[in-house]
Amino acid sequence: MALLDNLLTLHRVDSQVRALRSRVDSATTYLAAQEKLLTTLDRQKLELETQERQLKAAVHNLEMEQASAQERVDKLRSELNTSTNDKQYKAILNELKMLESQKDESVKRTLDDMQRAEDTKKRLDTHVATIIERRKIREVAQSKLDECMNDVGSRLSELESERDRAGTLIPTRERKLFDKVAEEMDGEAMAEVTIVDMRHREFACGVCHIEVPFEAYAKLASTSEVLIQCKACTRILHLLEANRPVEKTKK
Ligand SMILES: [Zn+2]
Repeated sequence: MALLDNLLTLHRVDSQVRALRSRVDSATTYLAAQEKLLTTLDRQKLELETQERQLKAAVHNLEMEQASAQERVDKLRSELNTSTNDKQYKAILNELKMLESQKDESVKRTLDDMQRAEDTKKRLDTHVATIIERRKIREVAQSKLDECMNDVGSRLSELESERDRAGTLIPTRERKLFDKVAEEMDGEAMAEVTIVDMRHREFACGVCHIEVPFEAYAKLASTSEVLIQCKACTRILHLLEANRPVEKTKK
């Protein structure tokens, strides 16, 4: 087989390998995105749990403070009843006043914190529901990948060895060039030369539509042992099968 025929065979297998691989790749990428999202959601859940716990602890501390302040108030009230002089009486009254205003402040803070704890709890509940939903989506992504690997796995390795075999028929330099172009062009390494106007000797690259010189067409029409690249897109040019030279019987 001539160089260009071998390149076309390689191209056909290479495209199939790439198509299958891209199926696996997109399933893998999708699953990885789901995993990443879940990690973020789990971290946020921990943060919300910490917040809720801290707010509850703050409420508890404030309630303890209020209880001990109340004890002091009760004690002062009974002292007030037994106070004997005016100076002492006023001092007790002042302290009571101060304690009352402190208590008001403390109750207000407690209510605020209780409200915040409740809000946090609601957010946490919604968050947990979201996590449950996202876990289901992750499961689906996982089974899609498994399914894809089942469908594709053995076919892919078959095709990969077929591609290696097709590759061995091509000289190293040309093989490397093919790989480079295939990589750059997303697997579309070959382009058929289209005849724009035979009489005026006008030809174009079938993919990027930039003009192909007559000399290149003539060369390809005379031999399939040359590798000519499109000057614009670098794809490897070949002719429509009917226009290719009839292969001479050599190896
Ligand atoms: Zn081109």
